[in-house]
Amino acid sequence: MRVGIFGGGPEAGPVIEELRAALEAAGHQVVDPAGDPELICVVGGDGTFLRAVRSLGYPEVPFVGLNTGHLGFFQELGPGDTHRLANALGRPPAAVEAYALVEASIAGQDRTCWAVNECVLKAGNGKTLHLRVKVGDTRLMRFAGDGFIVATPLGSTAYNCAAGGAILHPSLPALVVTPLAPLNTTAYRSLTQGFVVPHTLGVEFWVEPGTHAEPVLVADGEEHPVPKGVPVRFGRASYQVRFWRVDARETFWDRIRTRFLGDAGDW
Ligand code: NAP
Repeated sequence: MRVGIFGGGPEAGPVIEELRAALEAAGHQVVDPAGDPELICVVGGDGTFLRAVRSLGYPEVPFVGLNTGHLGFFQELGPGDTHRLANALGRPPAAVEAYALVEASIAGQDRTCWAVNECVLKAGNGKTLHLRVKVGDTRLMRFAGDGFIVATPLGSTAYNCAAGGAILHPSLPALVVTPLAPLNTTAYRSLTQGFVVPHTLGVEFWVEPGTHAEPVLVADGEEHPVPKGVPVRFGRASYQVRFWRVDARETFWDRIRTRFLGDAGDW
């Protein structure tokens, strides 16, 4: 099998070398990840995984992750699993899971931003952001606060979760929309809780031209400027990210328990 390795972070170097040797010993060919691989191994944490997907241009090829980072929510295996992975690649995957990305498009611009985790619309200069919010064709509300996160179910465990948004199972065809520090006073009234929309419906924000905020769109940590007074539409991207699963026994909820809660005790 042609395998590309993408790594990052100080702890990744020795694991990459070990993985390369294990793959070659098992008869696989280690190739440039930006070339023509059949599989990409990401060595690092979730941040490395996000950089891999972004820099390789959302390829059709599946990813498998070896965690050397902090949390490793995307990464199925650990740094000690190099030989296990190399041997497993001689067999069909236990599963290949594909998940849609979220995209944001700014009216009047050709450019579209994609994200695995989330697209965030927020003030880049510390001011209150004033927005109009539309869901589908419905003018839902005016909003004042720090902004909004629009996360994929797969990315709902990242920034969305830290901002109090619900965790969604990644198989759900939906987007989770979570406000950041919404004002809810007699001067400004908006929903303080997040909401979940079918991913075909989408959500649209329009930055009030009079706001002092300098709006930015942040796609998986990458910032893009946003003009005021034009619609910014968030919906499902046509791109998907694929995961090659070596072992399908660990469920999404197992990952939630082990990565967020630790030991649940013996019951
Ligand atoms: P980063 O330091 O790589 O990521 C921040 C933390 O989020 C890391 O611990 C990372 O895990 C974890 N993470 C990333 N994706 C995750 C996912 N889908 N589920 C659970 N945890 C996940 O930061 P970065 O390089 O700027 O990466 C951008 C990401 O950071 C964004 O997509 C956003 O979700 C997240 N972020 C979080 C906050 C917040 O929580 N307040 C604020 C801004 C951005 P690893 O340790 O394994 O890398």
